[in-house]
Amino acid sequence: MRSKVVVGNWKLNGSLAGNEALLKALLREIPRDNPVACAVCVPSPYLAQARALLEGSGIAWGAQDLSRHDHGAYTGEVSGAMLVDLGCRYVIVGHSERRTLFGETDAIAAQKYVAARNAGLTPIYCVGETLEERERGQMQAVLARQVDALLAGYGATGLERGLVAYEPVWAIGTGKTATAAQADEAQAFIRARIGAKDAGVAERLPILYGGSVKAANAKELFAMPNVDGGLVGGASLVAEEFVGIWRAAGSR
Ligand code: PEP
Repeated sequence: MRSKVVVGNWKLNGSLAGNEALLKALLREIPRDNPVACAVCVPSPYLAQARALLEGSGIAWGAQDLSRHDHGAYTGEVSGAMLVDLGCRYVIVGHSERRTLFGETDAIAAQKYVAARNAGLTPIYCVGETLEERERGQMQAVLARQVDALLAGYGATGLERGLVAYEPVWAIGTGKTATAAQADEAQAFIRARIGAKDAGVAERLPILYGGSVKAANAKELFAMPNVDGGLVGGASLVAEEFVGIWRAAGSR
């Protein structure tokens, strides 16, 4: 039985005052010992604030990106070791916004995954097809390419302590959620692709769904056999919604 995980991705949103109000609202509802892991991936300047508020609680924190480099002349970059210094458990890698807006290739995303693992973080490796690719019947080919880049970089055992998030690009921030059946089909494909290399790793790997998850649709999505929780963007900025999604993951 895989454990479930719900992770918020705040993207480029937040302020010291707003974060404090949101995190305190989450802390009131999410207990320390709970069966569904919960985390928020906040903008890097707020990681120290997240640590100060969340340390010792049932909510972990993480970043939305990291450098593939360890140190050196890479202005603006943040390394995995720095994230560990700030108490991060998770880091999102290869989010579609990084891929489409900042030119991240499969190879770069895979290198970041390796950098995160080497630093001791739990990377959340995002994959997903665009609407155009889906309509052309290329969903499986795109997912295979993205998963294979990761397997080539680290091998199946490298996935042992990582997470994968299936995030169809057409569902991110659009209000258009994949149906539970569409999410499960894609995630079963990802699991099978990894399973061809290592069945045990694939069976244990939590695969999250992301793309316009809300409290109202989370329960149906999380009830699918291959959906082990969610990566939540917009709805993670509203305490009531995020808590509702987290609760939905515990009710299977
Ligand atoms: C995301 O940013 O990973 C995401 C899934 O966003 P949203 O929930 O807003 O679609």
